[in-house]
Amino acid sequence: MKIREIMQHTDRTFSFEFFPPKDEISAVDFGINVGQLVKLNPSFVSVTYGAGGSSQEKTFALVDYLQNKIGLTTVAHYTCVGSDRDKIFSDMLNLQKLGVENLMLLRGDPPKGSVSFQAPKDGFSHASDLIRFVRKHYAFSIGGAAYPEKHPEAQTLEEDIGHLKNKYNSGTDFLITQLFFENDAYFSFARRARESGIKCRIIPGIIPITSYAQVNRFADMTAARIPAELHEKLERYKDNPEKSYQTGVDFAIRQCMDLLDRGAPGIHFYTLNKSRAAVEVFESLHL
Ligand code: FAD
Repeated sequence: MKIREIMQHTDRTFSFEFFPPKDEISAVDFGINVGQLVKLNPSFVSVTYGAGGSSQEKTFALVDYLQNKIGLTTVAHYTCVGSDRDKIFSDMLNLQKLGVENLMLLRGDPPKGSVSFQAPKDGFSHASDLIRFVRKHYAFSIGGAAYPEKHPEAQTLEEDIGHLKNKYNSGTDFLITQLFFENDAYFSFARRARESGIKCRIIPGIIPITSYAQVNRFADMTAARIPAELHEKLERYKDNPEKSYQTGVDFAIRQCMDLLDRGAPGIHFYTLNKSRAAVEVFESLHL
């Protein structure tokens, strides 16, 4: 089913994001995790597309598995990295043949060591260009990325929202946010996005952080502000995995409850292929 149709029938969606497992052992782990998540009857699941287009085959294979063998509504991520128009056109045809109805279309990051993104020859520089191209030729339901605390390359949030409006106008049915920990940042961003004319749902992307190492890594990667209370607690428990885990899960439960109480249109969980925390948070919401 297309996400835009799912959204016509429900006010909130709950979804889980995975990446293709690297090897056989992680594939077994992944199977156990998906098994746990299936029971929760998610609105959809999504599968990331590797940096540099490296995991394209694995992404498509996992999308095929989740969509056709497990029967979950599955969103295939796809980026501008390494693809010209002809390749994009044929990749989309292949996804369509697999029965995929939903895409998350992204620009992708510049290669490591380089600061700016270079469009491939006859390819695209911005997600909005990719979205416009795919929208013109195919009938997928399309999602795009949004950044409550600004994309790192944008000078100001205002400029970033201007580009997001362009992305919406290019044909997004929904937006999913970068992870964040401060709900006020999300609601203020969502209000400004609405004021700019963006009418589709902006689904908050949430990650249950379960270790001190993780919180620092994500803060560096995404520029998300970390509440002092969360940072201090994770630091205090950095040598106690169970307490770190519980700290992160408790925080994520409170964060999700507050988001839903204040009207957020659902939650997208970044699972990092470890479903225990995401399952625990989701179940605690008693939906
Ligand atoms: P864009 O929308 O193109 O924006 C990138 C930057 O360019 C922003 O600063 C924006 O303000 C600016 N910009 C946009 N349009 C213009 C314009 N016309 N002129 C000038 N500047 C402009 N990465 C992966 O490699 N694989 C994945 O599977 C993946 N999944 C993701 C899922 C989510 C929910 C999110 C939030 C991110 C994901 N990413 C993924 C990361 C994403 O590829 C990076 O954040 C990337 O740096 C930006 O992608 P984008 O689609 O937001 O790009």
